[in-house]
Amino acid sequence: MLDQNPNFVLSVEGLTVSFDGFKAVDDLSFYVEPNECRVIIGPNGAGKTTVLDLICGRTMATSGSVNFKGQELLSMREDQIVHAGVGRKFQTPSVYEDLTVFENLELSYPHGYSVFGALTFRRNDAVRSRIKEIAKTIFLEALLDEKAAFLSHGQKQWLEIGMLLIQDPELLMLDEPVAGMSVAERKKTAELLNTIIKDRSVIVIEHDMGFVADIATRVTVLHQGKTLSEGSMERVQNDPKVIEVYLGH
Ligand code: ADP
Ligand code: MG
Repeated sequence: MLDQNPNFVLSVEGLTVSFDGFKAVDDLSFYVEPNECRVIIGPNGAGKTTVLDLICGRTMATSGSVNFKGQELLSMREDQIVHAGVGRKFQTPSVYEDLTVFENLELSYPHGYSVFGALTFRRNDAVRSRIKEIAKTIFLEALLDEKAAFLSHGQKQWLEIGMLLIQDPELLMLDEPVAGMSVAERKKTAELLNTIIKDRSVIVIEHDMGFVADIATRVTVLHQGKTLSEGSMERVQNDPKVIEVYLGH
C-alpha cells in the first residue's frame, strides 16, 4: 500500500508512454477527487485516449504511477483493474445487438469469477431490481424487452454506460460519449453524468464544449501528452495558452 492522499480517488504522477521514441503521454500528473467529473479536452492526437488506455491497463506505461485507492494500477492486468473498480467505455458502443436491454444489463451484472457463475446465475429479485434501477438511470426503463439492435445510437451509448454502472465502479472513464448524439440526447447524457457522479468519480474525454460546461467539475487540457492548463471550465476557457492551441481554432 503506497501513501495516498485520501482526498483523491486517483493520483496520476509522471505518467509517460513512449511509442518508438515518440512520447504520446509525457510526464503527466493529475489528481481526481471523489464525486468529481474530470473532463479531458485537447486537440486530436494530444494523447487523451492513450491516457485512458494506460489507466485501464490496455497500454503499458513506460514510467510513472497511477494510484487508485492505494493500489498501483500500472502493475495490474486489465481484468484486475476492472475488478478493483475502474470501468472504461470505448468510443464505439459495444452492446449485444441480438439481446434485449434487460439481457445486456444482466450479462454485465457482476457474479464473481466462478467457473459455474454463468450457469448457476439466476434472475433473482435483487438482480431484477438492480437492472430496473439502472435502466431507469439510463432512460431505458420502457425498453427493457427491446433488442439492442433497435435502439438509437444514443440509446446504445447509454446502455453501454448502464452495463458499466451495474458493476458499480468507483471510477468510470468515458471516451467521447456524446459523439454522434442529437442535442436532446447530449442534454440527457449530461443529466445522466450529473446523477452518476453522486456515487463515483468520472473521467470523460470530450470535444463538445457546451456538454463539457454542463458536466465538468474540473477540466484538464492536454497538449502533446502534457497538461497545458487545468481548473474550472471558466479558468481554462480564458487561459491564453488554451485559446492559442485549441479553442481559438
Ligand atoms: P487523442 O485521443 O488525444 O486524439 P491518442 O491518445 O489517440 O490521441 O493518440 C496520441 C498519439 O499517440 C497519436 O499521435 C497517436 O498516433 C499515437 N499513438 C496512440 N497509440 C499508439 C500506439 N499503440 N502505437 C503508436 N502510436 C500510438
Ligand atoms: Mg481519442
